Amino acid sequence: MDTGALVQDEKRGMLIIVEGIDGSGKSTQIHLLHRWLVSEGYGVFFSEWNSSPLVKGTTKLGKKRKVLTPTTFSLIAATDFADRTEHEIIPALKAGAIVLADRYAYTAYARDVARGVPRSWVRNLYDFSVKPDIAMYFRVPLEVSLDRILTGRAQIKYYEAGMDIGLSTDVRESFKLFQERIMREYDNMVDEFGLTVIDGTRSIEEQQAEVRRIVSHKLAENHGVLGELKGDQVGRISIRRIEANS
Ligand code: ADP
Repeated sequence: MDTGALVQDEKRGMLIIVEGIDGSGKSTQIHLLHRWLVSEGYGVFFSEWNSSPLVKGTTKLGKKRKVLTPTTFSLIAATDFADRTEHEIIPALKAGAIVLADRYAYTAYARDVARGVPRSWVRNLYDFSVKPDIAMYFRVPLEVSLDRILTGRAQIKYYEAGMDIGLSTDVRESFKLFQERIMREYDNMVDEFGLTVIDGTRSIEEQQAEVRRIVSHKLAENHGVLGELKGDQVGRISIRRIEANS
């Protein structure tokens, strides 16, 4: 990964991202971290996977009509990511915010490859992305995540289950096989990208304590910069959002 349009000495903030298969508990952890950082007085900006208004309509249409191929799906996700990188993540980092991202480029590296897109191609595609300061991978055995996801979920969506690549005609079976492939990719990325592995089988509280320890340590290392950036100073962040219908 490269820092792209972000020159390193312009980056006053910190980028923290979480990854893991569905049901790994990463969203729970990053939301708790968000709340804690705000309560500690930090300026925090939250960026969510696939949230850019620029491509929302196209993604919805493509999914509804089931016309997305592994390549077009990958390119749409990359466009979403580029839009958020340039209009949200980089400005927020320049302004000194702690940027939190629920899923990052590694999601594309795992999911797109699980769909059959070449590893080198998708890594090259995301070359513009900003390297995270902390990248946590919540690792859980497949059975644990499936239990968490499938309990109380009436329906799994077509693309979510990887039905588009024909792993199985049964949606739940397809979901399992797809998640298994994604997990294999994540496991292979731990050394490649130096992901911090968190044991996602433990209680929410135990994991949150570890997450806060990791983040506190990094904040202490960066104290010279981030220590001065609490409170109102980060309020000046100006982030341009493009509304889908404007
Ligand atoms: P993800 O973002 O990885 O898909 P979520 O954080 O949304 O996972 O959690 C999926 C489900 O599992 C939610 O119902 C959540 O309450 C539950 N969950 C999260 N962490 C734990 C945990 N440590 N132990 C048991 N259940 C959990």
